[in-house]
Amino acid sequence: MMATEQTTNAILTARFAKMTNPAEVPTYVDLAGYQGLQKATTLDTAVLLNELETAGLISRSGTGENIAAQWQALAKAKGQTKYVVCNANEGEPGSFKDKALIQKDPLAVIEGMTIAAYFLKASQGYLYVQGEFPEFIENFATALNNAKAAHYLGTNILGIPGFNFDIQIMVSGGGYVENVADAMIPALEGRVGKPGRKVNLVKRGLYGAPTLVHDPETFANIPVILRLGGSAYRDLGAKDAGGTILVSLSGQFQHPGLYEVALGTPVQDILYQADYGGGSTTGKPFKFIHVGGQAGALATPAQLVDCAYTYSDFHAQHLTIGCGVIVAMDDSVGVVDYLEKVAAFYCAESCGKCLAGRVGSVRIKEQLQKFQRHAGVPGDLRYFAHTVDHVAERSLCPVGQSIGNAIFSGMKLFPDEFKQSINWDAPETKEVPW
Ligand code: SF4
Repeated sequence: MMATEQTTNAILTARFAKMTNPAEVPTYVDLAGYQGLQKATTLDTAVLLNELETAGLISRSGTGENIAAQWQALAKAKGQTKYVVCNANEGEPGSFKDKALIQKDPLAVIEGMTIAAYFLKASQGYLYVQGEFPEFIENFATALNNAKAAHYLGTNILGIPGFNFDIQIMVSGGGYVENVADAMIPALEGRVGKPGRKVNLVKRGLYGAPTLVHDPETFANIPVILRLGGSAYRDLGAKDAGGTILVSLSGQFQHPGLYEVALGTPVQDILYQADYGGGSTTGKPFKFIHVGGQAGALATPAQLVDCAYTYSDFHAQHLTIGCGVIVAMDDSVGVVDYLEKVAAFYCAESCGKCLAGRVGSVRIKEQLQKFQRHAGVPGDLRYFAHTVDHVAERSLCPVGQSIGNAIFSGMKLFPDEFKQSINWDAPETKEVPW
């Protein structure tokens, strides 16, 4: 993994290379750390919210939510107790931005959570993190202890009476579904991390209280907005959303890795410029680009020619930026083979709670494997599309509901590769799924 400061206006990765010990408070403070929190505590909450609104920060978790609107709703929510949760359970294949932040600039995440706590008058926060990366947890725990020792966490933070906030680390089971609030909240409460009751984070989140949940990248943006001012932050990005975004490039890029990219950067630059992805390893043009993670759709390079890396441009192409994942493949990779891997991921990550997700994901994978063997018969493609549609429609949570995005876009963009997997002389399948 590589982390770079691609833009002259790098705001999230600016400290990465400068901190030999990223958990150390004095170094963090020397590099503009805690200026955002200092500023926040001088502002009226309405002014603070206005800065967020002006900044135009969109959640970097992939949900696409407007952060100012979320904060406003939680500020208005009834209840004495409110919680701040950082979801660092980054399990999206091809995404490594949150791990990088937790490892290389944990205090930025902590500072962002502390500003949120100040705004919401929350006194308890949680970092929800995968247990597979003990070194990250250790690093974050050291940063927490250091922040507490320097009075940036704990009681009377910055000497302000009553400004009390602490953060506890909660280790997740690592399931992909635990990124869905309906599964994450029970897991945080010590129950099984599967979707249960419908969670409304504003009304009844953690322990029934209003709960703010962001990913580490979103939290790391908050101090920057306060430090620079909402307007200056917005100017770093695009019309529809301010700031920069961490983009994880993988697949067949010549320069795979993590890049900080200004929102509004032409996608062509990210794919092909030497200081970003640098094109394909073979020098051949890319055949397809998978954007937004496993739940996102495939696109052809032609679709992205005039496209800027913005939420609105992607929306216009029926694509999603998601959590900033871009996977690119050249013509050495078959679409059916690629999608079989996507389906295998869904099978492995099915929590088993609902029939459609549990059994349907297996059926989808099996059918793709049949296509890989060129063993399909007439009728199979129709049956396959029915199955995918059924799973997407009947699944209990967004994991199963999103399975069709990559598959249907692949079928639409590369129909011949699916047709080639069928023996058209064979008798038609008589299977009728439902
Ligand atoms: S779709 Fe169903 S089986 Fe899959 S993760 Fe969601 S609840 Fe679990």
